[in-house]
Amino acid sequence: MTKDIATPIRTKEIMKKYGFSFKKSLGQNFLIDPNILVNIVEHAGLTKEHGAIEVGPGIGALTEHLARATKKVVSFEIDQRLLPILEDTLSPYENVKILHSDVLKADVKETINEEFSGVEDIMVVANLPYYVTTPIILKLLTENLPIKGMVVMLQKEVAERIAAKPGSKTYGSLSIAIQYYTQAETVMIVPKTVFMPQPNVDSAVIKLMKLDKPAVEVIDEEFFFLVTRSSFAQRRKTILNNLTSQLPDGKLKKDDILTALSKAQIEPTRRGESLSIPEFGALADALYPYFH
Ligand code: SAM
Repeated sequence: MTKDIATPIRTKEIMKKYGFSFKKSLGQNFLIDPNILVNIVEHAGLTKEHGAIEVGPGIGALTEHLARATKKVVSFEIDQRLLPILEDTLSPYENVKILHSDVLKADVKETINEEFSGVEDIMVVANLPYYVTTPIILKLLTENLPIKGMVVMLQKEVAERIAAKPGSKTYGSLSIAIQYYTQAETVMIVPKTVFMPQPNVDSAVIKLMKLDKPAVEVIDEEFFFLVTRSSFAQRRKTILNNLTSQLPDGKLKKDDILTALSKAQIEPTRRGESLSIPEFGALADALYPYFH
C-alpha cells in the first residue's frame, strides 16, 4: 500500500512541490489524519461492490481511501489548480475519475448513468466545502439520484441542526428538509486539529441514509416545505402567528388557518419546534385547499 496522502508531512510536501496555496473562499481545509478517513469509510459501510461520489477531492486525501475501499470513485473538483496534483497523487489508483466541475452546476444524474453502470450501491462520501454544505446536500437529495445515502463532514453546528429532533433548540426547517428524505445521524465529532489549515469551527461527520419513501406522504411537497419554513420564520412566535404572517394572504386567511390547525389537531399556541414531521404533513394537507 502506498504512503497516505493525509499526513501533515506528505500534505506539506505536495503543497511545496506544486506551489499550491489554500483558497479559503473554496472551503479548502484538507484532512491530515488517516484515522479519521478510515472511520469515515467504515461509517459509509463501503465494499468493493460500491461506487462512491465525492465532492471536493482536494489533493486526494479521502479519495484514495475511497479508491481502496470501493469499485469506483467519481470526484467533482471546482479548483482547476488541483487537477495536475490529483493526477500525480492518485496515479496508483485506476478506479478514480476526477471531473473538473462545480457540483452545484453538474448533472449528477447523468454522471451516475455514465460512470456507474452495473454499480447498484452508490454512496456520497465527502469532506464538504463549508461555505456550501447545505446547498450541496439539498441538491443531492432533491434530484432523486440513485444513491443509498451520504456520509459527509461538515460544520458541527449544521450537523446538529440536520439531525435535530422535535423539541430541541436546533430543530428547524433544515432538520425537516433533510429528515423528509433520510434517516439522519451524527456519527463523529471531529477536532479542528485534523485539518490543514484548521477551520474556525468544530466539525462533525453525519450519516444520511435515504428512506424508501419520504417520511410523510403529502399532497404537495413544495407547499409542505413552504409551511415548514413559514412555521420557523420567527422561532419565538406561535405557529398561528408565523403562518398568518408568512403564508400568502395569511392575515386575511387567519380563520382558515385556525380551521386547518384544528383539523390537524394542532393547538394554535404551539411553536414550530414542537411539531413532528407527520404533524407538519397533516397541517400542510389541511391548509392546502385554502391556498390553492
Ligand atoms: N477531500 C479533501 C480533504 O478531505 O482533504 C478536501 C476537502 S476541502 C474541505 C473541500 C474541497 O471542495 C476543496 O478541494 C475545494 O476546492 C472543493 N470545492 C469547493 N467548492 C466546490 C464546488 N462547488 N464543487 C466541487 N468542489 C468544490
